[in-house]
Amino acid sequence: MNLVCIGAHPDDCEFSVGGTAAKCARRGDTVTLVTVTNGDRGHFFEEYRTRPHLLASRRMEEARKAAAAIGAQSRTLNLHDGSVYVNEENTMAMVRLLRELEPDLVLFNRNVDYHRDHRYTAQLVLDATFMLTVPLYCPETPALKRMPVFAYWFDRFTEGQPFRVDVVVPTDTVLKEKADVGQEHISQFFEWLPWHAGRYEEVPQDPEGRRRQIEEMVKNRGEWVRKHVPGEIAERWAPGREFRYAEAFQISEYGDRPDDETLAKLFPIEG
Ligand SMILES: [Zn+2]
Repeated sequence: MNLVCIGAHPDDCEFSVGGTAAKCARRGDTVTLVTVTNGDRGHFFEEYRTRPHLLASRRMEEARKAAAAIGAQSRTLNLHDGSVYVNEENTMAMVRLLRELEPDLVLFNRNVDYHRDHRYTAQLVLDATFMLTVPLYCPETPALKRMPVFAYWFDRFTEGQPFRVDVVVPTDTVLKEKADVGQEHISQFFEWLPWHAGRYEEVPQDPEGRRRQIEEMVKNRGEWVRKHVPGEIAERWAPGREFRYAEAFQISEYGDRPDDETLAKLFPIEG
Protein backbone atom coordinates (compact mmCIF):
# COMPACT_ATOMS: atom_id res chain seq x y z
CA MET A 1 0.00 0.00 0.00
CA ASN A 2 1.13 3.48 -0.80
CA LEU A 3 -0.13 6.29 1.47
CA VAL A 4 0.24 9.99 0.67
CA CYS A 5 -0.79 12.64 3.23
CA ILE A 6 -1.03 16.24 2.00
CA GLY A 7 -1.08 19.38 4.13
CA ALA A 8 -0.38 23.03 3.39
CA HIS A 9 2.23 23.51 6.12
CA PRO A 10 5.07 21.42 7.52
CA ASP A 11 3.08 20.39 10.64
CA ASP A 12 -0.43 19.98 9.18
CA CYS A 13 -0.47 16.21 8.60
CA GLU A 14 1.13 15.26 11.90
CA PHE A 15 -1.71 15.55 14.42
CA SER A 16 -4.51 14.84 11.98
CA VAL A 17 -3.12 11.66 10.42
CA GLY A 18 0.16 10.97 12.22
CA GLY A 19 -1.30 7.86 13.88
CA THR A 20 -2.68 6.44 10.65
CA ALA A 21 0.63 7.20 8.89
CA ALA A 22 2.56 5.49 11.70
CA LYS A 23 0.32 2.39 11.57
CA CYS A 24 0.70 2.20 7.78
CA ALA A 25 4.49 2.52 8.05
CA ARG A 26 4.52 -0.14 10.79
CA ARG A 27 2.74 -2.66 8.57
CA GLY A 28 5.21 -1.99 5.74
CA ASP A 29 3.39 0.55 3.57
CA THR A 30 5.21 3.33 1.73
CA VAL A 31 4.25 6.60 3.44
CA THR A 32 4.84 10.15 2.17
CA LEU A 33 4.02 13.35 4.06
CA VAL A 34 3.62 16.25 1.64
CA THR A 35 3.75 19.90 2.64
CA VAL A 36 2.58 22.23 -0.12
CA THR A 37 4.35 25.28 1.33
CA ASN A 38 7.83 25.48 2.80
CA GLY A 39 6.52 27.27 5.91
CA ASP A 40 8.65 30.37 5.33
CA ARG A 41 6.35 32.99 6.89
CA GLY A 42 4.75 31.65 10.07
CA HIS A 43 7.23 32.88 12.68
CA PHE A 44 8.27 35.95 14.66
CA PHE A 45 12.08 35.80 15.07
CA GLU A 46 13.59 39.01 13.70
CA GLU A 47 16.21 37.12 11.67
CA TYR A 48 13.48 35.47 9.57
CA ARG A 49 12.01 38.83 8.53
CA THR A 50 14.90 39.51 6.16
CA ARG A 51 15.97 35.92 5.60
CA PRO A 52 12.81 33.78 5.25
CA HIS A 53 14.82 31.15 3.36
CA LEU A 54 16.47 30.27 6.69
CA LEU A 55 13.04 29.57 8.16
CA ALA A 56 12.08 27.53 5.09
CA SER A 57 15.18 25.36 5.32
CA ARG A 58 14.66 24.87 9.06
CA ARG A 59 11.02 23.87 8.51
CA MET A 60 11.94 21.46 5.71
CA GLU A 61 14.53 19.82 7.94
CA GLU A 62 11.95 19.49 10.74
CA ALA A 63 9.49 17.95 8.26
CA ARG A 64 12.14 15.51 7.07
CA LYS A 65 12.96 14.43 10.63
CA ALA A 66 9.27 14.15 11.56
CA ALA A 67 8.58 11.87 8.60
CA ALA A 68 11.75 9.86 9.25
CA ALA A 69 10.62 9.25 12.86
CA ILE A 70 8.02 6.79 11.50
CA GLY A 71 9.98 5.64 8.44
CA ALA A 72 8.13 7.96 6.05
CA GLN A 73 9.49 10.36 3.44
CA SER A 74 8.81 14.09 3.21
CA ARG A 75 8.04 16.04 0.03
CA THR A 76 7.15 19.65 -0.71
CA LEU A 77 5.78 21.74 -3.58
CA ASN A 78 7.90 24.55 -2.07
CA LEU A 79 5.28 27.33 -2.33
CA HIS A 80 5.54 30.35 -0.05
CA ASP A 81 3.63 30.20 3.22
CA GLY A 82 0.37 32.15 2.90
CA SER A 83 0.56 32.05 -0.90
CA VAL A 84 -1.14 28.82 -1.95
CA TYR A 85 -3.17 29.73 -5.02
CA VAL A 86 -5.31 27.55 -7.24
CA ASN A 87 -3.78 28.23 -10.64
CA GLU A 88 -2.60 26.13 -13.54
CA GLU A 89 1.03 25.98 -12.43
CA ASN A 90 0.20 24.70 -8.93
CA THR A 91 -2.50 22.32 -10.18
CA MET A 92 -0.03 20.78 -12.62
CA ALA A 93 2.60 20.52 -9.88
CA MET A 94 0.08 18.64 -7.72
CA VAL A 95 -0.85 16.32 -10.61
CA ARG A 96 2.80 15.56 -11.34
CA LEU A 97 3.59 14.85 -7.69
CA LEU A 98 0.62 12.50 -7.25
CA ARG A 99 1.41 10.68 -10.48
CA GLU A 100 5.00 10.25 -9.40
CA LEU A 101 4.01 8.96 -5.93
CA GLU A 102 1.27 6.63 -7.31
CA PRO A 103 -0.76 6.52 -4.08
CA ASP A 104 -3.46 4.00 -3.22
CA LEU A 105 -4.84 6.36 -0.58
CA VAL A 106 -4.52 10.16 -0.26
CA LEU A 107 -5.39 11.91 3.03
CA PHE A 108 -5.94 15.68 3.20
CA ASN A 109 -8.09 18.37 4.85
CA ARG A 110 -11.46 19.56 3.54
CA ASN A 111 -11.70 22.79 1.58
CA VAL A 112 -13.83 24.43 4.31
CA ASP A 113 -10.86 24.69 6.69
CA TYR A 114 -10.13 27.99 8.49
CA HIS A 115 -6.78 28.79 6.84
CA ARG A 116 -6.64 29.95 3.21
CA ASP A 117 -3.59 27.78 2.53
CA HIS A 118 -5.51 24.76 3.85
CA ARG A 119 -8.56 25.51 1.71
CA TYR A 120 -6.57 26.03 -1.47
CA THR A 121 -4.36 23.01 -0.81
CA ALA A 122 -7.54 20.92 -0.62
CA GLN A 123 -8.81 22.53 -3.81
CA LEU A 124 -5.54 21.75 -5.60
CA VAL A 125 -5.88 18.11 -4.57
CA LEU A 126 -9.53 17.99 -5.68
CA ASP A 127 -8.70 19.68 -8.99
CA ALA A 128 -5.90 17.18 -9.53
CA THR A 129 -8.11 14.11 -9.04
CA PHE A 130 -9.71 13.70 -12.46
CA MET A 131 -6.64 14.96 -14.32
CA LEU A 132 -4.48 12.20 -12.82
CA THR A 133 -5.81 9.76 -15.41
CA VAL A 134 -5.85 12.14 -18.40
CA PRO A 135 -2.72 11.26 -20.45
CA LEU A 136 -2.54 14.51 -22.45
CA TYR A 137 -2.56 16.66 -19.29
CA CYS A 138 1.09 17.04 -18.17
CA PRO A 139 2.03 14.37 -20.78
CA GLU A 140 5.66 14.30 -19.65
CA THR A 141 4.57 12.51 -16.44
CA PRO A 142 2.74 9.24 -17.20
CA ALA A 143 -0.94 9.34 -16.20
CA LEU A 144 -2.20 7.01 -13.48
CA LYS A 145 -4.03 3.90 -14.69
CA ARG A 146 -6.03 3.62 -11.48
CA MET A 147 -7.64 6.41 -9.45
CA PRO A 148 -6.55 6.46 -5.79
CA VAL A 149 -9.00 6.75 -2.89
CA PHE A 150 -9.13 10.31 -1.50
CA ALA A 151 -10.23 10.86 2.11
CA TYR A 152 -10.54 13.97 4.27
CA TRP A 153 -9.19 14.02 7.79
CA PHE A 154 -11.53 14.95 10.64
CA ASP A 155 -12.63 18.51 11.30
CA ARG A 156 -15.54 20.29 12.97
CA PHE A 157 -16.10 23.11 10.49
CA THR A 158 -19.75 23.65 9.69
CA GLU A 159 -19.59 26.25 6.89
CA GLY A 160 -20.52 23.91 4.08
CA GLN A 161 -21.57 20.42 5.15
CA PRO A 162 -20.61 19.17 8.62
CA PHE A 163 -17.98 16.40 8.56
CA ARG A 164 -19.33 12.88 7.98
CA VAL A 165 -17.28 10.12 9.62
CA ASP A 166 -17.02 7.21 7.16
CA VAL A 167 -13.98 5.38 8.55
CA VAL A 168 -12.31 5.38 11.96
CA VAL A 169 -8.74 4.32 12.78
CA PRO A 170 -8.02 3.62 16.48
CA THR A 171 -4.69 5.20 17.43
CA ASP A 172 -4.18 3.95 21.01
CA THR A 173 -1.22 1.81 19.91
CA VAL A 174 0.68 4.62 18.15
CA LEU A 175 0.54 7.49 20.67
CA LYS A 176 4.31 7.32 21.08
CA GLU A 177 4.97 7.44 17.32
CA LYS A 178 2.52 10.30 16.90
CA ALA A 179 4.35 12.25 19.61
CA ASP A 180 7.71 11.38 17.99
CA VAL A 181 6.49 12.92 14.75
CA GLY A 182 5.01 16.03 16.41
CA GLN A 183 8.00 16.72 18.60
CA GLU A 184 10.29 17.33 15.61
CA HIS A 185 8.37 20.49 14.70
CA ILE A 186 10.18 22.66 17.23
CA SER A 187 9.70 25.93 15.33
CA GLN A 188 5.93 25.34 15.21
CA PHE A 189 4.93 23.78 18.52
CA PHE A 190 7.44 25.45 20.83
CA GLU A 191 7.86 28.80 19.07
CA TRP A 192 5.40 30.05 16.47
CA LEU A 193 2.05 28.55 17.57
CA PRO A 194 2.42 29.41 21.31
CA TRP A 195 3.70 32.90 20.39
CA HIS A 196 0.75 33.44 18.04
CA ALA A 197 -1.63 32.32 20.81
CA GLY A 198 -0.01 34.71 23.34
CA ARG A 199 1.42 31.83 25.42
CA TYR A 200 5.07 31.85 24.41
CA GLU A 201 6.20 32.46 28.02
CA GLU A 202 4.53 29.19 29.09
CA VAL A 203 6.55 26.97 26.71
CA PRO A 204 8.60 24.42 28.70
CA GLN A 205 12.33 24.82 28.17
CA ASP A 206 13.40 21.33 29.27
CA PRO A 207 13.15 18.33 26.89
CA GLU A 208 10.97 16.32 29.34
CA GLY A 209 8.50 19.19 29.69
CA ARG A 210 8.31 19.59 25.93
CA ARG A 211 7.76 15.88 25.42
CA ARG A 212 4.94 15.94 28.01
CA GLN A 213 3.32 18.86 26.21
CA ILE A 214 3.39 17.08 22.84
CA GLU A 215 2.02 13.88 24.40
CA GLU A 216 -0.84 15.91 25.92
CA MET A 217 -1.62 17.44 22.52
CA VAL A 218 -1.63 14.01 20.87
CA LYS A 219 -3.95 12.57 23.54
CA ASN A 220 -6.30 15.56 23.52
CA ARG A 221 -6.66 15.46 19.76
CA GLY A 222 -7.19 11.66 19.74
CA GLU A 223 -9.85 11.85 22.47
CA TRP A 224 -11.58 14.76 20.75
CA VAL A 225 -11.85 12.83 17.47
CA ARG A 226 -12.94 9.63 19.25
CA LYS A 227 -15.71 11.58 21.01
CA HIS A 228 -17.16 12.59 17.64
CA VAL A 229 -17.17 9.11 16.08
CA PRO A 230 -20.75 7.83 15.97
CA GLY A 231 -21.29 4.53 17.81
CA GLU A 232 -22.40 2.67 14.70
CA ILE A 233 -19.24 3.73 12.81
CA ALA A 234 -16.98 2.56 15.66
CA GLU A 235 -18.88 -0.73 15.76
CA ARG A 236 -18.72 -1.15 11.99
CA TRP A 237 -14.92 -0.76 11.71
CA ALA A 238 -13.73 -1.97 15.11
CA PRO A 239 -16.49 -4.30 16.33
CA GLY A 240 -16.35 -5.08 20.04
CA ARG A 241 -13.14 -3.14 20.46
CA GLU A 242 -12.57 -0.51 23.15
CA PHE A 243 -10.42 2.41 22.09
CA ARG A 244 -9.90 5.84 23.53
CA TYR A 245 -8.00 7.66 20.76
CA ALA A 246 -8.81 7.86 17.07
CA GLU A 247 -8.37 9.50 13.70
CA ALA A 248 -11.42 9.70 11.47
CA PHE A 249 -11.98 10.11 7.76
CA GLN A 250 -14.62 11.04 5.21
CA ILE A 251 -14.25 9.45 1.76
CA SER A 252 -14.24 12.02 -1.05
CA GLU A 253 -16.61 11.47 -3.94
CA TYR A 254 -13.97 12.59 -6.44
CA GLY A 255 -11.53 9.68 -6.15
CA ASP A 256 -12.12 5.96 -6.40
CA ARG A 257 -15.26 4.86 -4.49
CA PRO A 258 -14.24 1.60 -2.82
CA ASP A 259 -16.45 -0.92 -1.04
CA ASP A 260 -16.09 -1.60 2.70
CA GLU A 261 -13.80 -4.59 2.11
CA THR A 262 -11.29 -2.44 0.18
CA LEU A 263 -11.49 0.37 2.74
CA ALA A 264 -10.79 -2.10 5.54
CA LYS A 265 -7.59 -3.08 3.73
CA LEU A 266 -6.53 0.48 2.85
CA PHE A 267 -6.98 1.98 6.31
CA PRO A 268 -4.81 0.48 9.08
CA ILE A 269 -7.68 -0.26 11.43
CA GLU A 270 -6.15 -3.35 13.05
CA GLY A 271 -3.26 -3.12 15.48
ZN1 LIG B 1 -1.45 24.65 8.41
